[in-house]
Amino acid sequence: MADTVEMADTVTPATPHLEAVALDKSYRNNAEEVPVLRGVNLQVAKGEFLSLIGQSGSGKSTLMHLLGLLDSPDIGEIRLDGKRIDHLPAKTRDELRNRVFGFVFQFYHLLPELTLIENVIAPLMIRYSTWEYWSRRRELRDRAKEMIDQVGLSHRIKHRPNQLSGGEMQRAAIARSLVSEPQVLLADEPTGNLDVDTGKGIIELLQRLNTEHDLTILMVTHDESIAQRAQRLVRLKKGQIEKLHERAA
Ligand code: ADP
Ligand code: MG
Repeated sequence: MADTVEMADTVTPATPHLEAVALDKSYRNNAEEVPVLRGVNLQVAKGEFLSLIGQSGSGKSTLMHLLGLLDSPDIGEIRLDGKRIDHLPAKTRDELRNRVFGFVFQFYHLLPELTLIENVIAPLMIRYSTWEYWSRRRELRDRAKEMIDQVGLSHRIKHRPNQLSGGEMQRAAIARSLVSEPQVLLADEPTGNLDVDTGKGIIELLQRLNTEHDLTILMVTHDESIAQRAQRLVRLKKGQIEKLHERAA
């Protein structure tokens, strides 16, 4: 029996990397309560590439925000490697958000006055104290350059966002999300603002990061042909998760 108890505390291959357990979330509009998530259960395995689809307004972004600790559920838990994380003190959640999760959004959210490399380095400047940043700046700059290389933008490092195409801006945003070496990438409609071919390029980049770096990826999209390229596909409907398909990696 002692063994069984110990097992429950250990991260085994069966322990999901990231998990939503019985999540409820409502928004209040004036006096009216609008339920969005009603008992969402979702398990994402380590190194998995999972797509989440669902109609506009079905709660996809809401769920991503809860998973990435950008917002809190009304009821339910978020677990990382089997441990509850949504109820931790704000400071610990901030740290987890910065270190464990990488975020990619539809509209890139690059800072227009910064160059590409400055945008990519920005999360590290936030993460380290000024002193630590300056004493390690060469190493951190090299890391940023390596990420920029990974996304194929080495020839653009001094460009500002308005000098980049949509696809390049999304690549830059992906490099920025990777510079903190996250374990989980949460991508909310990453191709939503791109033409089909450029969007395909972004998905191929995510697939490569997923296989080469064992990065766990959860991608939201309303485009089913994009979603089909992931290993597994689930749909958010009426506030719950429907399992759709799974294919061998
Ligand atoms: P999706 O990403 O699937 O399009 P969202 O998660 O953005 O859906 O939104 C789900 C529902 O919750 C929508 O009806 C939206 O209007 C509502 N909603 C989202 N955020 C808020 C908010 N901060 N306040 C009030 N209602 C919100
Ligand atoms: Mg959304």
